[in-house]
Order: sequence, then C-alpha cells, then structure tokens
Amino acid sequence: MTRIVVSKYGQIRNEEIASILELMNETYERLQPHEVELVDVQFFENQSLLRDFFRREKRRYGITDDLDSEFPAIHEAWRGLPRISLSIDRLDQMNDLAAKGTVRHEVGHSILHGSVEYYIFEIPESLAKLGAKRRLSTECIRSILYLITIAVKDFEVSYLLFGHEYKDDQITYVMDLLKPSTGDLESWHLANAHAVGRVLCISGRLKDLLCAIPMMRASSDSRILDEYVISGFSYFPPELSRKMIDVGMELSNAMIGSTHQNVQIAANILCERLFEPILGEHSTDRKIT
Ligand SMILES: [Zn+2]
Repeated sequence: MTRIVVSKYGQIRNEEIASILELMNETYERLQPHEVELVDVQFFENQSLLRDFFRREKRRYGITDDLDSEFPAIHEAWRGLPRISLSIDRLDQMNDLAAKGTVRHEVGHSILHGSVEYYIFEIPESLAKLGAKRRLSTECIRSILYLITIAVKDFEVSYLLFGHEYKDDQITYVMDLLKPSTGDLESWHLANAHAVGRVLCISGRLKDLLCAIPMMRASSDSRILDEYVISGFSYFPPELSRKMIDVGMELSNAMIGSTHQNVQIAANILCERLFEPILGEHSTDRKIT
C-alpha cells in the first residue's frame, strides 16, 4: 500500500483533493508490483503558486535543469523521494479524461523514476562528440540532454500505463500534448532560421512524440493518433516532421533497457539520424533524407 502525504497551497476544496487521491490509490493498486511506499503529493490552487514553489525549490537544491514549471503537473525526486505537484485550476480546465490521464501519468513517473538517480545524467559520448564537432555550447548540449531525458522518461511511463489497460485517458492526455502550444509555434518562428534552433525545437517536442508512440503501435485507435501526430508537427517542414516521426518509431524499438541505458540509446540514434543531418545541412547544403 502506497502512503500519500498531502500538502496544500491555497484554497482547494477537500472533495477535489479526495477524488484525486482516490484516483491515485486506484492507479498505484493497478500498477502493482512496485516499490513506492511513500509519495508526497502537493496540491496548488493555481499555476502561479506552483511556479513560485519551484522557483524557491530550484534555488534551494541548486537545480539548474530546464524544468518547465508551466506544466499543470510535475513529478520530481530531488529530495530522494517521489513528489507530485498538481495545479488544480489547470486540471479543472481540462476535460475529465485528460485530467485523469495527467494524474496517472505522474503516478507512473513516481513508480519508474522516484529517486534522485533519474534526475542526474552524464552527457552521452555521442552527444558530446556532436557538440564538439558542431561547436555547440555546453548550455546547449545540457538543454538537449535534458529534453532527451524527459522524452525517454515519458515514453517509459506511457508504455507502463498503456500496458496496464489505461487507454482512453492516456490517449486523450496525449492528444492534448500533441497540439503545439503557442510557445512551440513562437519558438519555431524565432529559431528555425538556425540549425541549432531547429535542433532545440525538435528536441522540445520529442517528449510529446514519444509519449504517443506506445499507443500508436498498440491501439486500435492508432489511426486517429497517427493523424494527431502528423498534425501536431505540421508546422515543421514536411520532410523534417516525417523524419522526426520515423526516428521516434526507431527509438521506441531500440529503448528496451534501463532509463539510463535508454537515454544513451536515444542520444546515439538522435545524434546520428536527426541532429547531425540538421546541423550539417547548412555547411554541406545537404537535405536530410
Ligand atoms: Zn512526464
């Protein structure tokens, strides 16, 4: 039995908390066997309280990664124990299935990635070599690595939940993710003239793609999801979005190890098949194939 320790920031109705805890308990039960004995769950009335909390926490623990505190739900284990943070006003704005899918996704993280080792990754050799060859800054290499790690972890969670028959809520959750945000579109608009910008924009969307792939492969609804995936990346040039989806499929077949091994595998494939061709485009005038 998993013990859930609750904290609350702002005004939130007790019934709302109770119904989310019930959903979490049901999910921990169905995802047995696992080793989560204790999980901290923090309820925030709104995103700005959640954002302030993480600003303070990052300072306190010296966290330098790009954790995006604009997400409505966050899982981390910076203190060694799994911790889930939820912005209640954002969950309330979602449809019921997508909100359930979001909460279950974080439960999945707490089971698979609930200790600090899942937040510390060495730079894979393939990425370091690419960085040296293409003169990428350390900050840029770190950002790409961070985006790869969150994509790999999301793939693992999606695979776990889908394998335990959480289908409708996970598909709805992923359909929401696949729609490009205003930030995605703006970033692309600002950065796409430069190869490094293109690599960063593509890396930023890997998470959404890899979350969808376990369901695309296994679901009878996969045709609907295929269309969502294609339209979700349609603001990229067609050959680039096609290549991204192909590489995503290749990753999902290759990632059969531990999280750390999967990050290595993903970095190797991404560097060779996606990043190097993009970064080499300008100098060799070569189109990616
Ligand atoms: Zn996630």
